[in-house]
Amino acid sequence: MVKYLFILGLITIAPRVLADEICPAAPLPSNQLAEIEKILSPLKQRQIKYGNNCAKEFGTDFEQLVNESINDGLKCLNGLNTQSSKDISKKLENLFQDRTNIIECKNLGTKDSTITAESSVDDHQNRPEEKLFHPYLILNADKLKGDDPASKEFLKSTIFHESIHNMSYAHGDGPEIAYTCEACCFNTGSPETRDLACRACGASLGDALNTKYIHAILPWAQATKSTYRLALDDLTYKGLIQEPGSKDYLEALIQIHPFAGEDIINKVMARNLVKNQILNSDKAIEISKLPIEAPAELIQLAEKIVAVRMALLVEGNASKAFDLAKRIDLSHYQALGKKYQNDDFSNLYYGLNDDLSHIGKDIELQKKRAEEFEDFHFQFKIVN
Ligand SMILES: [Zn+2]
Repeated sequence: MVKYLFILGLITIAPRVLADEICPAAPLPSNQLAEIEKILSPLKQRQIKYGNNCAKEFGTDFEQLVNESINDGLKCLNGLNTQSSKDISKKLENLFQDRTNIIECKNLGTKDSTITAESSVDDHQNRPEEKLFHPYLILNADKLKGDDPASKEFLKSTIFHESIHNMSYAHGDGPEIAYTCEACCFNTGSPETRDLACRACGASLGDALNTKYIHAILPWAQATKSTYRLALDDLTYKGLIQEPGSKDYLEALIQIHPFAGEDIINKVMARNLVKNQILNSDKAIEISKLPIEAPAELIQLAEKIVAVRMALLVEGNASKAFDLAKRIDLSHYQALGKKYQNDDFSNLYYGLNDDLSHIGKDIELQKKRAEEFEDFHFQFKIVN
């Protein structure tokens, strides 16, 4: 149950803009204002059941604040004026019409806990013993209450974020809507990354594997060092397994740095792709020219891993990739792992691990060399 609960970590409260400010990505045409007002007016009858503690914890204007949060979110999404943002806005509007939403306010966990809120993404998270039925959200009063404007804005942005989870959008599983649209509409990130968040939010509905979406969210994920980089790495990888050699996915893959430290594999991979004239964009050339500040023996290992990656992701040849992986001396690999027990080695480890798991799936799928692979993979796991 717990793994399905999505938690918004406590973030530093940055100075905020006025709540009714419209996202900066696209000014709202005046003829649309009337339309939005039309959308908002029937929503005064939103179906929301408030917990008894909410007014006690957050004050008698709490209901008004919830409505402001949703109204501000709807205005912002409509102001972005993309198909995705309009679709998300419609879903948000329907969320409060189709079923009764439960908003509970209580103290979650200990005083030191960083949990600000919890919410349901589907009916599997119903908690009948607590009378919580999807869609519900629980606000951690300890962390969210306060009379100053910044606290009120943080509370509003949290309600909006959790409502997006209530629309069945989780983190790391499909497009990242909660963080990007929250940062866009409530300015919860740094001011410099807000526009990137708006672009990602505006492109976010639909297939997360879509390369247009990946390229739209990538600048935001990089600039904010979001954990979504892990999901993006995974998505581009999946895309390349389906479409080996796709330039759009390869461009994204060499730009994603999901792990801390120098990303040796990406730079070596970019050099390889540019040298072999597979990629020739300015960005790929720029990455290929970046200095690699790592010990020579790690760069040599990265080159061997990239050879595996080129066979797997560019040629789509899992058997060849497996043969190249087997040429990596496992005892030498193990020795390097012990010597560089830090970020320098970790991305090489995770890089090769990713490759092996996909080689394994492919070989398993085609029932070729499966036993041989299992044996090799077992040894690889033992050394790490
Ligand atoms: Zn969340």
